[in-house]
Amino acid sequence: MRDPRIERLRRLVRDVADFPKPGITFKDITPVLGEPGAFRDAIDLMAEPFAQERIDAVLAVESRGFIFGAPLALAFKAALVPIRKPGKLPYRTRRVAYQLEYGSDALEMHQDALLHGAKVLLVDDVLATGGTAQAAIRLAEEQGAQVIGASFLLSLDFLQGVEKLASHRTACVLRT
Ligand code: AMP
Repeated sequence: MRDPRIERLRRLVRDVADFPKPGITFKDITPVLGEPGAFRDAIDLMAEPFAQERIDAVLAVESRGFIFGAPLALAFKAALVPIRKPGKLPYRTRRVAYQLEYGSDALEMHQDALLHGAKVLLVDDVLATGGTAQAAIRLAEEQGAQVIGASFLLSLDFLQGVEKLASHRTACVLRT
């Protein structure tokens, strides 16, 4: 049976052709944010698969991950841990570098953000190739945390991000 919450979210995510560069179809989630009921549903649906888990910290990836990560951290009564591009976090950081299709990038997390053994949930808006999520998971695991899973509003299934994260439980509200 179709969940009307999911159908509404599917209608609200807007495709923007050729952004940020030609050939890319950008999944714009701002119409979801513009409807409080739909945003609420998105948060509930992203939390549901992990509702039985103890979550100590929600890892949120810059920058749209922050939008979904903050309410999820409150829902789980968990810490919110921001993961950012290099040079943005003010205190001492740990860094992980990862490969992009062309070139490489890096992510940072404060070195005291996670306690050893903390159970964490990774959150972002869109799962594409999975490279970003994989790097964020590596950062958390190198700090001794246990990654319970990853929750996304939307997966671009043709880019096989879920397969890349196969060693972790992945939940996506919408799939295209
Ligand atoms: P990836 O590392 O390939 O899984 O890319 C994931 C990151 O890039 C996420 O933080 C997404 O917000 C963003 N992203 C990648 N592709 C898209 C897309 N087509 N539409 C919106 N965001 C995207």
